[in-house]
Amino acid sequence: MPTFNIFEILKIAEKFLTSHNITEAKLDAEVMLCDVLNIERKVLPTIREKNLTAKQYSLYQKYLERRANREPVSYIIGNTEFMGLKFKVSSDVLIPRQETEILVETVNNFIKKNNCKNILDLCTGSGCIAVSVAKYNKDISVTASDISEKALNIAKENAELNKVSDRINFVQSNIFESINEKFDIIVSNPPYVTEKEYKTLEKELYFEPKLALTAEDNGLYFYKQIAENAKKYLNNNGAIFLELNANLSKEIESLFKNFSSTKIIKDYSGLPRILQISTQKEK
Ligand code: GLN
Repeated sequence: MPTFNIFEILKIAEKFLTSHNITEAKLDAEVMLCDVLNIERKVLPTIREKNLTAKQYSLYQKYLERRANREPVSYIIGNTEFMGLKFKVSSDVLIPRQETEILVETVNNFIKKNNCKNILDLCTGSGCIAVSVAKYNKDISVTASDISEKALNIAKENAELNKVSDRINFVQSNIFESINEKFDIIVSNPPYVTEKEYKTLEKELYFEPKLALTAEDNGLYFYKQIAENAKKYLNNNGAIFLELNANLSKEIESLFKNFSSTKIIKDYSGLPRILQISTQKEK
């Protein structure tokens, strides 16, 4: 094996990834190397002269090949960060997105303002919403559901990792099918990509479970199910918070015209990203 120090290896890795059209080549090269070395990224500049062991070198080469093949870094290293917390991810769950942090922050504000006691997270996937809501609201009790048993297992691991297992009840359920309670809040980032949109996604997204991304009925299936059934599962003065397919925001909002009020919140790119639905007019 050639002996390169960390500084040299990173230069070579960045060049290699760039040549495979990876846009964040430097960042990805660093994040994957830190995983191989089992260190935090801030330590990297302090150990630039160190050499890799043969084992580290060969593992890093495998990581770089996978990334060049467009597999997302989070799947390669097996975890990601969301709301300042660490989450395990595998190809059984979507990788948590930055936009979804706006959904959690909006929900957290509502919980504090209205002193909410319980919340239902539908299509929980990795559990990123359920776990971070539990983490940042000490008195809330959370029910997290998903149709996929494999996803629920990851979500349970994430609840343990973040020490909130005692306040999250996991239920395998097709949307509301196995839910028998009422909640102050229903939150969901459901699958919402249309079959047409699915054909045009970046290569990285094809590593994610299609079940978690696409929805029938032109992307509207889950929103329609929630609009039709949510009232049975909401307490008085309850609210629903949904992540939106930005291309369908108006159609989705109109599905909820029988509720007292709806409000759209934009994301960092100015796109309609969150829909807040209330069962009573805001004071
Ligand atoms: N926001 C995701 C994307 O980047 C889709 C998530 C979802 O379907 N809920 O495509």
